[in-house]
Amino acid sequence: MSIYIDPAVASSLRGFEMPEKLGFGKVMAPVMFRAVCQDGCWSRGELLPYAPLALDPAAKVLHYAQSCFEGMKAYRVQGGGVGLFRPERNAARMVHSAERLCMPPVPESLFMDGVRTVSAYCANLVPANSGESLYLRPFLMGTQPDLSVSTSSTCEFYVIASPSEAYHPGNMRLWVERENARAALGGTGDSKVGGNYAASLLSVARLKERGYDQSLWLNPGNRRTVDELSGMNFFAVLDGELHTPALNGSILEGVTRDSLIELARDLGYRVREREIDIDELLGQVESGRCEEAFACGTAAIISPISVFGDGEREYRPAKAPGPVAERLRAALLDIQEGRAEDRFGWMQAV
Ligand code: PMP
Repeated sequence: MSIYIDPAVASSLRGFEMPEKLGFGKVMAPVMFRAVCQDGCWSRGELLPYAPLALDPAAKVLHYAQSCFEGMKAYRVQGGGVGLFRPERNAARMVHSAERLCMPPVPESLFMDGVRTVSAYCANLVPANSGESLYLRPFLMGTQPDLSVSTSSTCEFYVIASPSEAYHPGNMRLWVERENARAALGGTGDSKVGGNYAASLLSVARLKERGYDQSLWLNPGNRRTVDELSGMNFFAVLDGELHTPALNGSILEGVTRDSLIELARDLGYRVREREIDIDELLGQVESGRCEEAFACGTAAIISPISVFGDGEREYRPAKAPGPVAERLRAALLDIQEGRAEDRFGWMQAV
């Protein structure tokens, strides 16, 4: 189906001024993509000027959190043009999230139309500095105005975009969260749904008061092994090997995590996906066996961890940033920003 381009899009783009300071997710590109699904039938996609949405106050998303989203980036590629990094993985993850919330999955072709159209029209808004990009936020929500707890007959899919810096540049101080959980056994931890992030906010508010940056979530079943951060996956370097928690139903399968596993193996590192016991890990940080640890995600890329706070105690990896994190960050960005050969076939030109 062809995409409708609203004639007002051209003037929205012309009138947009890029601010000097970007931050992350603060500056919104002046266009958005929309498609509507009514009783299982998708409308054609439309590119519209960015504007507030009209939502019925009884829309299900506002009451029962029927919403899921993706986070991905359009990169300015050296030598010209704009590229997307493994966008089909985001399309597939959004299908998984939508199905978990009983929403009609966005067909991959419609998802790709959305991210490609927004990226192409906003090509001049993709920042050129390394580590900066046009952050893309596809999202899907149930909009039927009806207060019964049941699946929504109407859903709306949008793609908005934000020229951004990396999410958390620099070292991170993590708080080992032993009280709250962001996900439940059998719950939605492995889906990218709004409720998971709402459930993470109280922990983050508390740890910020103590001078930390992010929660390190433990598995909601055993409360003993490491799952991930609120928006990033976790890696530790032990005896020169990379260790990351194995996928278990409550961890979100990150595109960056998957890519780093492949990239690290290609660079000659041994990578193990396994259960990581938090007490063992803290002991290994203390003894120096775990020299470095880092978190990874599309928004943050790779963020070295400088401190694990656990109750009254702090554990500091010897190296933050460590050489493994730095090498992987450079190797990943070199592919995403077109400085290195795309030997895994991860990039798609817009
Ligand atoms: N875990 C969670 C809970 C996240 O929200 C994200 C960000 N999508 C990640 C991990 C990292 O995923 P990705 O590498 O695909 O950005």
